[in-house]
Amino acid sequence: MTSPTILWLRRDLRLSDHPALDAAIRRGGPIIPVFIYEETVAQMGAAPKWRLGLSLRDLAQRFEDIGSRLILRKGDPLKVIPSLVDETGAGAVHWSRLYDPTSITQSKALKTALKDNGIAAESHNSHLLFEPWTTQTKTGGFYRVYTPFWRAVKDRPVERALEAPKSLSAPDQWPSSDPLESWALGQAMQRGATVCLPYQNVGEENARSQLRDFIEGAINTYDTDRNLPALPGTSGLSENLTYGEISTRQCWHAGMYARHEGMRGAETWLKELVWREFAYHLMYHTPHILSENWRQEWGAFPWYEDENRSEVIAWKQGRTGVLFVDAAMREMYVTGKMHNRGRMIVASYLTKHLMCHWRIGLDWFAECLTDWDPASNAMGWQWSAGSGPDATPYFRIFNAETQLDKFDKAHAYPDRWIAEGRTQPTNTALSFFDAIPRSWGLDPKAAYPSPIVGMAEGRQRALAAYEDREF
Ligand code: FAD
Repeated sequence: MTSPTILWLRRDLRLSDHPALDAAIRRGGPIIPVFIYEETVAQMGAAPKWRLGLSLRDLAQRFEDIGSRLILRKGDPLKVIPSLVDETGAGAVHWSRLYDPTSITQSKALKTALKDNGIAAESHNSHLLFEPWTTQTKTGGFYRVYTPFWRAVKDRPVERALEAPKSLSAPDQWPSSDPLESWALGQAMQRGATVCLPYQNVGEENARSQLRDFIEGAINTYDTDRNLPALPGTSGLSENLTYGEISTRQCWHAGMYARHEGMRGAETWLKELVWREFAYHLMYHTPHILSENWRQEWGAFPWYEDENRSEVIAWKQGRTGVLFVDAAMREMYVTGKMHNRGRMIVASYLTKHLMCHWRIGLDWFAECLTDWDPASNAMGWQWSAGSGPDATPYFRIFNAETQLDKFDKAHAYPDRWIAEGRTQPTNTALSFFDAIPRSWGLDPKAAYPSPIVGMAEGRQRALAAYEDREF
């Protein structure tokens, strides 16, 4: 009889299109799925950690539905997995690759340790369309600019997505598992969890039906509507992609089908999926993007680095007095997500108008986003700050006021998210006050503040700093 296979899960919390699971099934014998509360999980921000818990609960149920079980363990995977191998007599371990430096080192060490003990160990690609090292420039290097990267991958064949298994073979005896509640993954969300919950679209089935709805509808006008923050004009799949509740391949094939059917916005959407690939390509080849200026000469830019500056606090609390910025920051606090244009605006405002370091913003997003993704977040922040990959040869400073007039003429987005100074604030705007810590001491009946730094003043200051830079 074939020995059990351990299936180690991380950001691949689904059953369909799962190459590691597929390999485990093909090997034969019982499968023991395990998720480990390791250091990288412990370090997650409040919102993504809470959202991870929702995903694990859903996945555990899906495993139960097909006669299996999700085992939860806490500790260092380099110790937990070998000890599970001993306990269960497993002969193989399969997992999906991640591409940040910590995960790469860990994966290599685990593979070596298992193989040294005669255990088969194999990692698979479940997270991306293409492994980052397989896309190369003509001279064999990696891409630093998006458009040539897109051209290089757009016609590459993408393997077909795999079906979900209908049943899984179980071991005679299941190893013990922590109760999910004992991990208290939602603890740091406090009262915000109740407010945020209705905005989460958790799990594989919901993700797939969201994708279907998008492909049958909004994708047609995605090329224009994706810029309008007051409309649900985008797929909303980032939270599912980041935890692997849906695969990029499934999204890619759906987008290709839509393009084939003549849906106008399909190509633009495919390009966005490739932005995600590009973020992983950059993180793999230039891992310093996660914590240091991608363009190292930006070390000379005089950003403020103090998180306790009153301007940073106003930015985090959605009290800058700039409507687009505040609406977007509150949208994030209530829903766990923020419209892409909002992300660009608030990032530009923090790093240019307020001249604060992009790392402050990166960390705050990592705390508040339920779709937090290490690669996309780092690329987004560095792109917005100017220190990252950007083909634009000038210093871009978004004007949040003209952007609002251009993309939300009726100001429906601030109406949805800002309560102060309005006689009849919307329920969504009021819900922000139910989500935030009481210690912030904010009151929906207070006056709405004047801009802490106005558009022209902030632009001038940032441009002057840019021109005086020593690089
Ligand atoms: P759609 O517009 O429907 O796009 C489909 C998918 O393509 C997205 O789900 C996402 O996986 C990918 N995608 C789209 N735009 C981008 C982009 N600019 N960069 C990388 N991938 C993209 N995205 C995250 O998933 N997690 C983050 O932590 C994150 N942080 C960001 C921080 C900043 C400062 C900026 C400017 C952008 C950030 N993004 C992040 C990218 C983008 O804003 C979101 O992916 C997008 O808003 C998600 O909405 P959607 O799922 O409806 O996307």
